[in-house]
Amino acid sequence: MSLIVLKFGGTSVASRERLFNAASIVEKAWRAGNDVVAVVSAQGDTTDELLKKAAEISPSPSEREMDMLLATGEQISIALLCMALHSLGCPAVSLTGWQAGVLTDSHHAKARIRFVETRRLREELARRNVAVAAGFQGTDAQGNITTIGRGGSDTTAVALAAALGASRCVIYTDVDGVYTGDPRLVRGAQKLKEITYDEMLELASMGAQVLHNRSVELAKRNGVPVEVRSSFTDEPGTIVREETMERRTVSGVAQDADVAVISLTGTADVPGIAYKIFDRLAKEKINVDMIVQSAAENHCKHICFTVAQDQAAQALELIQNQRDVAYQSLNMDPDVSKISIVGAGMAGSAGVASEMFEALYKQGINIMFISTSEIKVSVVIKSQDAQRAVQAIHDHFFQAENQ
Ligand code: ASP
Ligand code: MG
Repeated sequence: MSLIVLKFGGTSVASRERLFNAASIVEKAWRAGNDVVAVVSAQGDTTDELLKKAAEISPSPSEREMDMLLATGEQISIALLCMALHSLGCPAVSLTGWQAGVLTDSHHAKARIRFVETRRLREELARRNVAVAAGFQGTDAQGNITTIGRGGSDTTAVALAAALGASRCVIYTDVDGVYTGDPRLVRGAQKLKEITYDEMLELASMGAQVLHNRSVELAKRNGVPVEVRSSFTDEPGTIVREETMERRTVSGVAQDADVAVISLTGTADVPGIAYKIFDRLAKEKINVDMIVQSAAENHCKHICFTVAQDQAAQALELIQNQRDVAYQSLNMDPDVSKISIVGAGMAGSAGVASEMFEALYKQGINIMFISTSEIKVSVVIKSQDAQRAVQAIHDHFFQAENQ
Protein backbone atom coordinates (compact mmCIF):
# COMPACT_ATOMS: atom_id res chain seq x y z
CA MET A 1 0.00 0.00 0.00
CA SER A 2 1.35 3.40 -0.90
CA LEU A 3 0.50 6.98 -1.62
CA ILE A 4 0.09 7.66 -5.31
CA VAL A 5 -0.85 10.66 -7.43
CA LEU A 6 -2.80 10.01 -10.64
CA LYS A 7 -3.26 12.91 -13.04
CA PHE A 8 -5.82 12.95 -15.87
CA GLY A 9 -5.45 15.38 -18.76
CA GLY A 10 -8.28 17.17 -20.54
CA THR A 11 -8.98 14.44 -23.08
CA SER A 12 -9.05 11.78 -20.37
CA VAL A 13 -12.00 13.49 -18.66
CA ALA A 14 -13.63 15.02 -21.77
CA SER A 15 -16.91 13.06 -21.78
CA ARG A 16 -19.15 11.03 -19.50
CA GLU A 17 -17.59 7.82 -20.77
CA ARG A 18 -14.04 9.03 -20.28
CA LEU A 19 -14.78 10.40 -16.84
CA PHE A 20 -16.06 6.99 -15.81
CA ASN A 21 -12.99 5.41 -17.34
CA ALA A 22 -10.77 7.72 -15.29
CA ALA A 23 -12.91 7.05 -12.23
CA SER A 24 -12.49 3.31 -12.61
CA ILE A 25 -8.69 3.66 -12.82
CA VAL A 26 -8.75 5.72 -9.62
CA GLU A 27 -11.17 3.33 -7.93
CA LYS A 28 -9.01 0.30 -8.73
CA ALA A 29 -5.93 1.95 -7.26
CA TRP A 30 -7.93 2.88 -4.16
CA ARG A 31 -9.42 -0.64 -3.75
CA ALA A 32 -5.90 -2.06 -3.95
CA GLY A 33 -5.33 -0.22 -0.66
CA ASN A 34 -3.42 2.81 -1.88
CA ASP A 35 -3.91 6.36 -0.69
CA VAL A 36 -4.91 8.09 -3.89
CA VAL A 37 -4.73 11.74 -4.92
CA ALA A 38 -6.22 12.40 -8.35
CA VAL A 39 -5.36 15.63 -10.16
CA VAL A 40 -7.48 16.69 -13.10
CA SER A 41 -7.39 19.17 -15.97
CA ALA A 42 -10.37 20.97 -17.44
CA GLN A 43 -12.49 18.84 -19.77
CA GLY A 44 -11.49 18.81 -23.45
CA ASP A 45 -11.31 22.32 -24.90
CA THR A 46 -12.86 24.01 -21.88
CA THR A 47 -9.88 26.28 -21.19
CA ASP A 48 -9.76 27.44 -24.83
CA GLU A 49 -13.49 28.14 -24.72
CA LEU A 50 -13.12 30.18 -21.56
CA LEU A 51 -10.37 32.19 -23.25
CA LYS A 52 -12.76 32.87 -26.14
CA LYS A 53 -15.51 33.96 -23.79
CA ALA A 54 -13.18 36.47 -22.19
CA ALA A 55 -12.11 37.79 -25.60
CA GLU A 56 -15.78 38.46 -26.41
CA ILE A 57 -15.93 40.84 -23.46
CA SER A 58 -12.55 42.53 -23.57
CA PRO A 59 -9.44 42.52 -25.73
CA SER A 60 -7.26 42.88 -22.65
CA PRO A 61 -9.06 41.50 -19.62
CA SER A 62 -7.59 41.90 -16.16
CA GLU A 63 -5.20 39.05 -15.41
CA ARG A 64 -6.74 38.52 -12.03
CA GLU A 65 -10.21 38.05 -13.51
CA MET A 66 -8.77 35.86 -16.24
CA ASP A 67 -7.39 33.47 -13.63
CA MET A 68 -10.70 33.56 -11.78
CA LEU A 69 -12.38 32.50 -15.02
CA LEU A 70 -9.88 29.87 -16.16
CA ALA A 71 -9.82 28.21 -12.76
CA THR A 72 -13.48 27.26 -13.19
CA GLY A 73 -12.61 24.68 -15.87
CA GLU A 74 -10.79 22.40 -13.45
CA GLN A 75 -13.51 22.84 -10.84
CA ILE A 76 -16.04 21.27 -13.18
CA SER A 77 -13.76 18.26 -13.63
CA ILE A 78 -13.09 17.66 -9.93
CA ALA A 79 -16.79 17.73 -9.06
CA LEU A 80 -17.78 15.42 -11.93
CA LEU A 81 -14.96 12.97 -11.23
CA CYS A 82 -16.02 12.77 -7.58
CA MET A 83 -19.62 12.12 -8.60
CA ALA A 84 -18.45 9.32 -10.88
CA LEU A 85 -16.31 7.87 -8.08
CA HIS A 86 -19.25 8.01 -5.68
CA SER A 87 -21.40 6.09 -8.11
CA LEU A 88 -18.69 3.41 -8.21
CA GLY A 89 -18.85 3.25 -4.42
CA CYS A 90 -15.54 4.96 -3.90
CA PRO A 91 -15.47 7.79 -1.33
CA ALA A 92 -13.93 10.94 -2.80
CA VAL A 93 -13.69 14.63 -1.97
CA SER A 94 -13.06 17.34 -4.53
CA LEU A 95 -10.62 20.09 -3.61
CA THR A 96 -9.86 23.29 -5.50
CA GLY A 97 -6.22 24.27 -5.75
CA TRP A 98 -6.46 26.45 -2.65
CA GLN A 99 -8.36 23.80 -0.67
CA ALA A 100 -5.61 21.36 -1.63
CA GLY A 101 -3.09 23.86 -0.22
CA VAL A 102 -1.39 24.94 -3.43
CA LEU A 103 0.24 28.30 -2.66
CA THR A 104 1.75 30.27 -5.51
CA ASP A 105 3.37 33.60 -6.19
CA SER A 106 1.22 36.42 -7.59
CA HIS A 107 2.14 36.21 -11.29
CA HIS A 108 -1.31 35.70 -12.75
CA ALA A 109 -1.49 33.29 -15.71
CA LYS A 110 2.06 32.08 -15.06
CA ALA A 111 2.28 31.72 -11.30
CA ARG A 112 4.84 29.43 -9.74
CA ILE A 113 3.95 27.03 -6.99
CA ARG A 114 5.79 28.15 -3.84
CA PHE A 115 4.57 25.63 -1.33
CA VAL A 116 1.96 22.95 -0.80
CA GLU A 117 0.27 22.96 2.59
CA THR A 118 -0.68 19.28 2.70
CA ARG A 119 -2.73 19.19 5.91
CA ARG A 120 -6.16 18.98 4.24
CA LEU A 121 -4.99 16.42 1.70
CA ARG A 122 -3.55 14.24 4.46
CA GLU A 123 -6.75 14.50 6.50
CA GLU A 124 -8.81 13.29 3.55
CA LEU A 125 -6.42 10.43 2.86
CA ALA A 126 -6.46 9.46 6.54
CA ARG A 127 -10.24 9.15 6.26
CA ARG A 128 -9.69 6.79 3.32
CA ASN A 129 -11.13 9.33 0.89
CA VAL A 130 -9.72 9.77 -2.56
CA ALA A 131 -8.65 13.42 -2.77
CA VAL A 132 -9.53 14.84 -6.18
CA ALA A 133 -7.58 18.06 -6.65
CA ALA A 134 -7.92 20.68 -9.37
CA GLY A 135 -4.78 21.06 -11.45
CA PHE A 136 -3.46 24.33 -12.88
CA GLN A 137 -4.62 26.58 -10.01
CA GLY A 138 -3.65 27.91 -6.61
CA THR A 139 -3.80 31.04 -4.50
CA ASP A 140 -1.23 33.68 -3.72
CA ALA A 141 -0.39 35.04 -0.27
CA GLN A 142 -3.28 37.54 -0.51
CA GLY A 143 -5.77 34.80 -1.33
CA ASN A 144 -6.14 35.70 -5.01
CA ILE A 145 -6.79 32.80 -7.37
CA THR A 146 -3.87 32.16 -9.70
CA THR A 147 -3.18 29.78 -12.58
CA ILE A 148 0.22 28.37 -13.38
CA GLY A 149 0.40 28.37 -17.19
CA ARG A 150 -1.16 26.32 -19.99
CA GLY A 151 -0.65 22.61 -19.48
CA GLY A 152 0.13 23.28 -15.83
CA SER A 153 -1.89 20.44 -14.31
CA ASP A 154 1.09 18.13 -14.84
CA THR A 155 3.07 20.45 -12.59
CA THR A 156 0.33 20.45 -9.96
CA ALA A 157 0.44 16.65 -9.94
CA VAL A 158 4.20 16.52 -9.50
CA ALA A 159 4.11 19.26 -6.83
CA LEU A 160 1.52 17.31 -4.82
CA ALA A 161 3.49 14.08 -5.28
CA ALA A 162 6.66 15.79 -4.06
CA ALA A 163 4.97 17.47 -1.09
CA LEU A 164 3.24 14.26 0.00
CA GLY A 165 6.27 12.07 -0.61
CA ALA A 166 4.23 9.93 -3.02
CA SER A 167 5.82 6.77 -4.29
CA ARG A 168 4.46 7.27 -7.79
CA CYS A 169 3.06 10.01 -9.98
CA VAL A 170 1.23 8.80 -13.06
CA ILE A 171 0.22 11.21 -15.81
CA TYR A 172 -2.66 9.78 -17.85
CA THR A 173 -2.83 11.48 -21.20
CA ASP A 174 -3.89 10.89 -24.81
CA VAL A 175 -0.52 9.53 -25.91
CA ASP A 176 0.73 6.25 -24.53
CA GLY A 177 4.26 7.32 -23.71
CA VAL A 178 7.39 9.00 -24.99
CA TYR A 179 8.68 7.80 -28.35
CA THR A 180 12.05 7.75 -30.09
CA GLY A 181 10.51 10.15 -32.62
CA ASP A 182 7.14 11.78 -33.18
CA PRO A 183 5.00 8.72 -34.09
CA ARG A 184 2.86 10.84 -36.39
CA LEU A 185 5.88 11.81 -38.46
CA VAL A 186 8.52 9.13 -38.07
CA ARG A 187 8.11 5.59 -39.40
CA GLY A 188 9.23 2.97 -36.90
CA ALA A 189 9.14 5.28 -33.86
CA GLN A 190 9.30 3.15 -30.72
CA LYS A 191 7.91 3.72 -27.29
CA LEU A 192 10.61 4.11 -24.64
CA LYS A 193 10.26 2.22 -21.36
CA GLU A 194 12.25 4.85 -19.55
CA ILE A 195 13.82 8.21 -20.16
CA THR A 196 15.86 10.51 -17.91
CA TYR A 197 14.60 13.87 -16.68
CA ASP A 198 17.33 15.63 -18.65
CA GLU A 199 16.47 13.85 -21.88
CA MET A 200 12.82 14.64 -21.35
CA LEU A 201 13.58 18.32 -20.81
CA GLU A 202 15.61 18.48 -24.00
CA LEU A 203 12.92 16.72 -26.01
CA ALA A 204 10.20 18.94 -24.57
CA SER A 205 12.13 22.09 -25.36
CA MET A 206 12.09 20.91 -28.97
CA GLY A 207 8.38 20.63 -29.21
CA ALA A 208 7.81 17.02 -28.08
CA GLN A 209 5.21 18.41 -25.69
CA VAL A 210 4.16 15.36 -23.74
CA LEU A 211 4.70 16.85 -20.29
CA HIS A 212 4.62 20.43 -19.07
CA ASN A 213 8.29 21.39 -18.88
CA ARG A 214 8.13 22.72 -15.36
CA SER A 215 6.67 19.43 -14.14
CA VAL A 216 9.80 17.66 -15.32
CA GLU A 217 12.08 20.20 -13.65
CA LEU A 218 10.13 19.83 -10.44
CA ALA A 219 10.17 16.03 -10.64
CA LYS A 220 13.93 16.12 -11.16
CA ARG A 221 14.51 18.46 -8.25
CA ASN A 222 12.45 16.27 -5.93
CA GLY A 223 13.37 12.89 -7.36
CA VAL A 224 9.76 12.00 -8.16
CA PRO A 225 9.53 9.30 -10.82
CA VAL A 226 6.78 10.19 -13.30
CA GLU A 227 5.03 7.70 -15.53
CA VAL A 228 3.36 8.97 -18.71
CA ARG A 229 0.70 6.62 -20.02
CA SER A 230 -2.59 6.49 -21.84
CA SER A 231 -5.87 6.32 -19.96
CA PHE A 232 -7.36 4.43 -22.91
CA THR A 233 -5.21 1.29 -22.79
CA ASP A 234 -3.72 -0.94 -20.12
CA GLU A 235 -0.24 -0.75 -21.60
CA PRO A 236 2.57 0.51 -19.40
CA GLY A 237 3.82 3.92 -20.49
CA THR A 238 7.21 5.61 -20.19
CA ILE A 239 8.83 6.31 -16.83
CA VAL A 240 10.76 9.54 -16.45
CA ARG A 241 13.45 9.30 -13.79
CA GLU A 242 16.99 10.34 -12.88
CA GLU A 243 18.72 7.35 -14.44
CA THR A 244 17.51 4.61 -16.71
CA MET A 245 18.47 0.95 -16.44
CA GLU A 246 18.69 0.60 -20.16
CA ARG A 247 21.86 2.15 -21.59
CA ARG A 248 21.31 3.86 -24.90
CA THR A 249 23.45 6.48 -26.56
CA VAL A 250 20.52 8.08 -28.36
CA SER A 251 17.01 8.09 -26.93
CA GLY A 252 15.19 10.18 -29.45
CA VAL A 253 15.19 12.36 -32.52
CA ALA A 254 13.22 15.59 -32.42
CA GLN A 255 12.34 18.23 -34.90
CA ASP A 256 11.48 21.85 -34.33
CA ALA A 257 10.09 23.81 -37.25
CA ASP A 258 9.52 26.95 -35.20
CA VAL A 259 12.97 28.32 -35.91
CA ALA A 260 14.37 31.22 -37.89
CA VAL A 261 18.04 31.95 -38.54
CA ILE A 262 19.45 35.44 -38.44
CA SER A 263 22.93 35.93 -39.84
CA LEU A 264 25.26 38.87 -39.83
CA THR A 265 28.35 38.80 -41.96
CA GLY A 266 31.37 41.01 -41.71
CA THR A 267 31.12 42.32 -38.19
CA ALA A 268 34.30 43.86 -36.76
CA ASP A 269 36.85 41.64 -35.02
CA VAL A 270 36.84 43.68 -31.80
CA PRO A 271 35.55 43.00 -28.28
CA GLY A 272 31.91 43.70 -27.46
CA ILE A 273 30.07 42.90 -30.71
CA ALA A 274 28.35 39.76 -29.42
CA TYR A 275 27.59 41.51 -26.16
CA LYS A 276 25.96 44.48 -27.87
CA ILE A 277 23.79 42.35 -30.14
CA PHE A 278 22.59 39.83 -27.59
CA ASP A 279 22.18 42.33 -24.78
CA ARG A 280 19.84 44.32 -27.01
CA LEU A 281 17.82 41.20 -27.83
CA ALA A 282 17.74 40.05 -24.21
CA LYS A 283 16.42 43.43 -23.07
CA GLU A 284 13.49 42.95 -25.45
CA LYS A 285 12.97 39.43 -24.09
CA ILE A 286 13.90 37.77 -27.36
CA ASN A 287 14.88 34.24 -26.66
CA VAL A 288 18.00 33.27 -28.59
CA ASP A 289 18.65 29.55 -28.94
CA MET A 290 21.76 28.55 -30.90
CA ILE A 291 24.59 31.00 -31.51
CA VAL A 292 27.49 30.40 -33.87
CA GLN A 293 30.35 32.81 -34.44
CA SER A 294 33.01 32.14 -37.01
CA ALA A 295 36.72 32.63 -36.44
CA ALA A 296 37.96 36.00 -37.65
CA GLU A 297 39.16 36.32 -41.19
CA ASN A 298 40.44 39.61 -42.64
CA HIS A 299 39.46 41.28 -39.33
CA CYS A 300 35.84 40.23 -39.83
CA LYS A 301 33.59 37.74 -38.08
CA HIS A 302 30.23 36.22 -38.97
CA ILE A 303 27.55 35.67 -36.37
CA CYS A 304 24.46 33.46 -36.84
CA PHE A 305 21.79 32.62 -34.33
CA THR A 306 18.32 31.15 -34.12
CA VAL A 307 15.16 32.56 -32.58
CA ALA A 308 11.52 31.44 -32.52
CA GLN A 309 9.76 32.39 -35.75
CA ASP A 310 7.36 34.83 -34.17
CA GLN A 311 10.26 36.86 -32.76
CA ALA A 312 12.39 36.85 -35.91
CA ALA A 313 11.05 40.03 -37.50
CA GLN A 314 11.43 41.94 -34.25
CA ALA A 315 14.98 40.64 -33.77
CA LEU A 316 15.89 41.66 -37.29
CA GLU A 317 14.51 45.15 -36.77
CA LEU A 318 16.36 45.59 -33.49
CA ILE A 319 19.66 44.78 -35.14
CA GLN A 320 18.90 47.03 -38.13
CA ASN A 321 18.23 49.89 -35.77
CA GLN A 322 21.28 49.27 -33.69
CA ARG A 323 23.72 52.12 -34.24
CA ASP A 324 26.74 50.65 -32.46
CA VAL A 325 27.14 47.42 -34.48
CA ALA A 326 28.38 47.55 -38.07
CA TYR A 327 28.11 44.62 -40.48
CA GLN A 328 28.30 43.88 -44.19
CA SER A 329 25.04 41.98 -44.59
CA LEU A 330 22.11 41.00 -42.43
CA ASN A 331 19.73 38.20 -43.36
CA MET A 332 16.81 36.32 -41.91
CA ASP A 333 15.68 32.88 -43.05
CA PRO A 334 12.44 31.51 -41.60
CA ASP A 335 12.42 28.33 -43.73
CA VAL A 336 14.68 26.33 -41.44
CA SER A 337 14.21 23.55 -38.90
CA LYS A 338 16.25 22.31 -36.02
CA ILE A 339 16.80 18.58 -35.83
CA SER A 340 18.28 17.12 -32.68
CA ILE A 341 19.30 13.80 -31.27
CA VAL A 342 19.08 13.48 -27.51
CA GLY A 343 20.63 10.85 -25.28
CA ALA A 344 22.06 10.74 -21.79
CA GLY A 345 24.50 8.04 -22.92
CA MET A 346 26.06 10.35 -25.49
CA ALA A 347 28.29 11.98 -22.93
CA GLY A 348 30.49 8.92 -22.65
CA SER A 349 30.65 7.67 -26.22
CA ALA A 350 32.56 8.95 -29.19
CA GLY A 351 31.32 9.42 -32.73
CA VAL A 352 27.61 9.92 -32.12
CA ALA A 353 27.59 13.31 -33.82
CA SER A 354 29.45 12.01 -36.84
CA GLU A 355 26.91 9.20 -37.21
CA MET A 356 24.18 11.82 -37.37
CA PHE A 357 26.13 13.80 -39.96
CA GLU A 358 26.68 10.62 -41.97
CA ALA A 359 22.94 9.96 -42.11
CA LEU A 360 22.41 13.51 -43.43
CA TYR A 361 25.26 13.26 -45.90
CA LYS A 362 23.82 10.05 -47.37
CA GLN A 363 20.61 11.97 -48.05
CA GLY A 364 22.55 14.84 -49.60
CA ILE A 365 21.26 17.22 -46.94
CA ASN A 366 23.28 20.33 -46.24
CA ILE A 367 23.82 21.42 -42.64
CA MET A 368 23.59 25.16 -41.99
CA PHE A 369 24.89 24.94 -38.49
CA ILE A 370 25.59 22.64 -35.63
CA SER A 371 25.50 22.90 -31.89
CA THR A 372 26.12 20.31 -29.22
CA SER A 373 25.63 19.85 -25.51
CA GLU A 374 26.46 16.95 -23.18
CA ILE A 375 23.33 15.06 -24.15
CA LYS A 376 22.28 16.64 -27.44
CA VAL A 377 23.48 17.31 -30.97
CA SER A 378 21.42 19.77 -33.01
CA VAL A 379 21.67 20.83 -36.61
CA VAL A 380 19.81 23.53 -38.49
CA ILE A 381 18.78 22.62 -42.03
CA LYS A 382 16.33 23.89 -44.63
CA SER A 383 12.75 23.01 -43.68
CA GLN A 384 12.12 21.29 -47.00
CA ASP A 385 14.68 18.63 -45.94
CA ALA A 386 13.44 18.23 -42.38
CA GLN A 387 11.11 15.28 -42.80
CA ARG A 388 13.64 13.29 -44.78
CA ALA A 389 16.40 14.18 -42.32
CA VAL A 390 14.48 13.04 -39.27
CA GLN A 391 13.54 9.75 -40.88
CA ALA A 392 17.10 9.07 -42.02
CA ILE A 393 18.58 9.87 -38.62
CA HIS A 394 15.93 7.83 -36.86
CA ASP A 395 16.51 4.87 -39.20
CA HIS A 396 20.22 5.14 -38.59
CA PHE A 397 20.01 4.98 -34.81
CA PHE A 398 16.97 2.78 -34.30
CA GLN A 399 16.55 0.51 -37.29
CA ALA A 400 19.05 -2.05 -36.04
CA GLU A 401 16.94 -2.46 -32.89
CA ASN A 402 13.83 -2.88 -35.01
CA GLN A 403 15.06 -5.89 -36.91
N1 ASP B 1 -6.63 23.35 -18.38
C1 ASP B 1 -5.34 23.94 -18.50
C2 ASP B 1 -4.97 24.05 -19.97
O1 ASP B 1 -5.74 23.69 -20.83
C3 ASP B 1 -4.30 23.21 -17.71
C4 ASP B 1 -4.03 21.79 -18.12
O2 ASP B 1 -4.79 21.19 -18.87
O3 ASP B 1 -3.01 21.25 -17.71
O4 ASP B 1 -3.92 24.51 -20.28
MG1 MG C 1 -1.20 18.57 -20.98
